[in-house]
Amino acid sequence: MTDHSYSFQTRVLHGNHKFDPTTGAVSVPIQQASTFHQADFDNPGKYDYSRSGNPTREALEEEIARLEGGDKGLAFASGMAAISTSFMMLSKNDHVVITEDVYGGTFRLVHEVLHRFGIEHTFVDMTDLHAVATAIQPNTKVVYIETPANPLLNITDISAVAKLAKAHGCYTFVDNTFMTPALQRPLELGADLVLHSATKFIAGHSDVVAGLAVTNHPEIAEQLPYLQNAFGSILGPHDSWLVLRGLKTLDCRLKQSTESAIKITRYLDDHPLVEEVYHPSLTTHPGYSTHNYQADGPGAVLSFRLKDAAAVREFSKHVEIPVFAVSLGAVESILSYPAKMSHASMPELERLKRGITDGLLRLSVGLEKPEDIIKDFDRALQQINSLEVELGG
Ligand SMILES: *Cc1c(COP(=O)(O)O)cnc(C)c1O
Repeated sequence: MTDHSYSFQTRVLHGNHKFDPTTGAVSVPIQQASTFHQADFDNPGKYDYSRSGNPTREALEEEIARLEGGDKGLAFASGMAAISTSFMMLSKNDHVVITEDVYGGTFRLVHEVLHRFGIEHTFVDMTDLHAVATAIQPNTKVVYIETPANPLLNITDISAVAKLAKAHGCYTFVDNTFMTPALQRPLELGADLVLHSATKFIAGHSDVVAGLAVTNHPEIAEQLPYLQNAFGSILGPHDSWLVLRGLKTLDCRLKQSTESAIKITRYLDDHPLVEEVYHPSLTTHPGYSTHNYQADGPGAVLSFRLKDAAAVREFSKHVEIPVFAVSLGAVESILSYPAKMSHASMPELERLKRGITDGLLRLSVGLEKPEDIIKDFDRALQQINSLEVELGG
């Protein structure tokens, strides 16, 4: 489909792989093959070996590139495979400026692994442009953004940081997992590389682990496929197909979940036992205006703070609807406890400094009726009240 004026809702369904040209099948065929017959070794065919290229994976790569507005898309075995392979563009003595509330796996990669290869880093508060500017060194090659960030939904101004990075000859990488191209397209804002854990909203059903990368930068478009082939961190054909299938309903899932997240945020914000709620839909959120400028909606992940660990324990014991797990972006709501899950490996002092207290919970809103979740939460919050009475306030 060539008309770019169609909305995302339509374009997500009608891409370059609308039907299979050989059979007319309206679902991309799963080419479960490792190698491809070469009729003439002087003129090898388009595909030779599936690590280097597979038609099912390629269909996904073309679709995500189209939706992010990039030239080249790549599908990896996981979000971390996409992120770590992208960092392999760097060399010894290069430097990375990275947001301090980056995803835990990326924190570990940069802090523990890249460091061993002589690639240095500086963690900064990316909401502070002055701090970003100060952190950039002559050997800085990448400025790494995540927005909204986990778990307090801090917002980074993508175009301002990308401009700063470009002025210093650095690439801007953006982890767009929380938004997806349905809500935010970082390449349009000046970023060079968009990264995804497709495990989350893009695939959307808690049934596949996958990663995606999209670029419009000619140098990255050349280097990254080379590195993907060199490292072999590819997504298999069956998993590629699952992500393609998830992608078709991305827009309607995210719209529904976002709407519900707004309702749940309002409910929690009014509840006397909830000390704080974090969601970019709140006008009191410090990143509200930046987020509204660069994204098409607040998304379906929110966090809220109860008094302490005892309150969290009581609440999670009584809450019925969400699954209690790590991960996010699925059809079912997922409740997680950052202090004991995603940020468990972080030293307590660092954790508290970032606002990740023992009372903080994160909710990824799924497709349940929001009124049911509110009813469930209301009942569970009442249990904290009775606990307080038992303990004498
Ligand atoms: C889950 C996640 C990742 C890592 O992706 P995997 O698919 O689990 O490897 C990276 N960034 C963010 C923001 C995530 O939520």
